[in-house]
Amino acid sequence: MPSPVDPPSACRFHTRCPWATEICSEEEPPLAEYSSGQAAACHHPRNVDQGQISRTEVAPDSPESASERLPGAEPTAAATR
Ligand code: SF4
Repeated sequence: MPSPVDPPSACRFHTRCPWATEICSEEEPPLAEYSSGQAAACHHPRNVDQGQISRTEVAPDSPESASERLPGAEPTAAATR
């Protein structure tokens, strides 16, 4: 379990997430707004389809420390395994 006072860089879950890929340890995911009205900060969201991913935008309240790279910029975790 990572230290909560010194969390991992990039995505804070990348050391224990089963779907983590290289980008997860390199870039903090932006908070993304989906057409369904949901928002999530994950490079490989698993509960949205490709159509929703293609219409995703960075949320106005996404952290400044996060990258601008939205899901879909690289192959999905499922496609790389
Ligand atoms: S798949 Fe999502 S939750 Fe898992 S490490 Fe990557 S960005 Fe974080």
